[in-house]
Amino acid sequence: MALLEIKNLNITYKTDKKEIKAVKDFSLDVEAKDSIGIVGESGSGKSTLAMGILKLLPKETTKITGKILFNGVDLLKLSEEKLRNLRWRDISVVFQKSMNSLSPVHKIGFQMEDIYRVHEPNVSDEEVRKRILELFKFVNLSDRVYTLYPHELSGGMMQRVSIALSLIHYPKLLILDEATTALDVVTQGQILDEIMKLEEGLDLTRMMITHDISVVASSCKKVVVMYGGCLLESGYVQDVLINPKHPYTQGLLDSFPALTGEKKNLRGIPGSIPDLSLEYKSCIFANRCKKARDICFKKVPETKILPNEWNVACHLLGGF
Ligand code: ATP
Ligand code: SF4
Repeated sequence: MALLEIKNLNITYKTDKKEIKAVKDFSLDVEAKDSIGIVGESGSGKSTLAMGILKLLPKETTKITGKILFNGVDLLKLSEEKLRNLRWRDISVVFQKSMNSLSPVHKIGFQMEDIYRVHEPNVSDEEVRKRILELFKFVNLSDRVYTLYPHELSGGMMQRVSIALSLIHYPKLLILDEATTALDVVTQGQILDEIMKLEEGLDLTRMMITHDISVVASSCKKVVVMYGGCLLESGYVQDVLINPKHPYTQGLLDSFPALTGEKKNLRGIPGSIPDLSLEYKSCIFANRCKKARDICFKKVPETKILPNEWNVACHLLGGF
């Protein structure tokens, strides 16, 4: 059994005028100690997926169907109270602006102590302080941050506090949604190196949403490519990013500087992302795909499973 099993997940935003299908029939197994990068253009459903996993989307305006099994337990069926027990302790998520949720009137250390005590009410003051200072070291913050207020910290320092907080209970699953994007490259590299050590030492599993494919290439074992709410390709980084099989992954990689070897001209993908309020009975990428044939406009491609856990949703693989 995988640590996280997402099965046929659909997430729809209900607005006044239309329904936006932001995640569509999405299935993924995440094994313990996996590190998975989730990439795709803006609007492809990456953040919706992250928020859906922890049921952070408002019930009134979203509809979620499918299964999200964490250690075999369906998170979609858990009560709010049981989910609260799971957050921070078993699953932590850091968004790009997570620090906005901290109170401006309390010192950082005090707020972190409070969060620590939610799951460890009997721990001594000394132990809490030790754990928090250990985490500061981990994210390259000095001890003095303990006694500072949020407004006294720079954006980068705030983000490092968020990352430290997310690790406070050694969660089993850490979801980073563009969490390191605003940091300078050196700090980002240091933090990811430390997190990778944790993945080796503890059973930490990481899902990392980013626009930066080079970060995925250097810090993740696996990659998932999303487009229009769908999973188009997934597998090991050395397969998918070196020899992509899906035309969208190929286009995405052509839009980035070369990961290895010589410099290349960046090309981009002409056209724009699909209207997610429409029902697609075709390949979702068909109107932008250079390799599209008749069948691509008539039938949704099935996901082909290749050796080495490589999944590709494209008619091309079945032969036209
Ligand atoms: P980005 O990389 O820009 O963060 P993303 O891949 O994370 O994008 P999402 O933010 O998950 O994509 O958005 C997926 C789709 O859902 C988009 O079409 C977006 O406009 C739509 N969407 C997101 N939040 C809402 C909302 N609260 N109400 C209605 N539609 C939404
Ligand atoms: Fe392109 Fe057709 Fe493959 Fe879709 S199914 S990516 S349109 S070749």
